[in-house]
Amino acid sequence: MEFKNEYQQQIPQSKYECLLFDVDDTLYPLSSGLSAECTKNIREYMVKKLGIEKTKVPEMCAQLYKDYGTTMAGLRALGYDFDHDDYHSFVHGRLPYEYLKPDPVLKALLHSLPIRKVIFSNANEAHVAEVLRRLGLEDCFEDVICFESLNPKNQDSPKSSVTGYDDVSKRAVVLPESPIICKPFENAFQQAFKMAKITPHKTLFFDDSIRNIQTAKLTGLDTVLVGFSQRKKGVDYALESIHNIKEALPELWESVKKSKGGRYSRKVGIETHVKA
Ligand SMILES: [Mg+2]
Repeated sequence: MEFKNEYQQQIPQSKYECLLFDVDDTLYPLSSGLSAECTKNIREYMVKKLGIEKTKVPEMCAQLYKDYGTTMAGLRALGYDFDHDDYHSFVHGRLPYEYLKPDPVLKALLHSLPIRKVIFSNANEAHVAEVLRRLGLEDCFEDVICFESLNPKNQDSPKSSVTGYDDVSKRAVVLPESPIICKPFENAFQQAFKMAKITPHKTLFFDDSIRNIQTAKLTGLDTVLVGFSQRKKGVDYALESIHNIKEALPELWESVKKSKGGRYSRKVGIETHVKA
């Protein structure tokens, strides 16, 4: 019993037991140019593989992304049928990953955080693994939730019901449902919580998409909008860059200071879906 009491004293009660991170434009900046290349590839896929008229593609691509969180989910909602692996290898498999350089500063920050860290991305497993490898962050996360985790093969997923906004009538409209599960829809968050054993009110979520952040807030997560300096509705913290995490949220490191010299360890051994 003596040991138990000593141990309890050495583990301070942190507000958060998990940090949940998006990948693209969150762990590296939009200015890397990788996302712009990704958009080019998506547009090319729509023209070459789906036969959509070239002049209609840019607007359609942007609208579907806005309505469904990913263009892919929007294309499936419109009835386009295509192999998901083929789409991902065309869109992500040809990306110039050399745009991303190792980020030892972020690596050190993440390693120094005494809280469990999990990835939650709409992208496919191979893309997430390659991005983490290029950034040198492959050993920073204990679990990865990605496209394949949310959309397992040969399984009928519950559909994401989608409410859009008609710019002309200024009214909310019900859009066709997509068979793809992805952020910003609540079912994607609920599935991620279940898979990674996440307690939303003890978790801090980092993402560059305001729509993802707003759903996150509704599910009980605390939120950090990355890539913006201004807070908006549903945003608890706004960071211009993920590198500013320590200045904006020093309390995340509090438990390190308090436990210095103790036998404190919070490493959680759970299954990792991606071996980067
Ligand atoms: Mg993102």
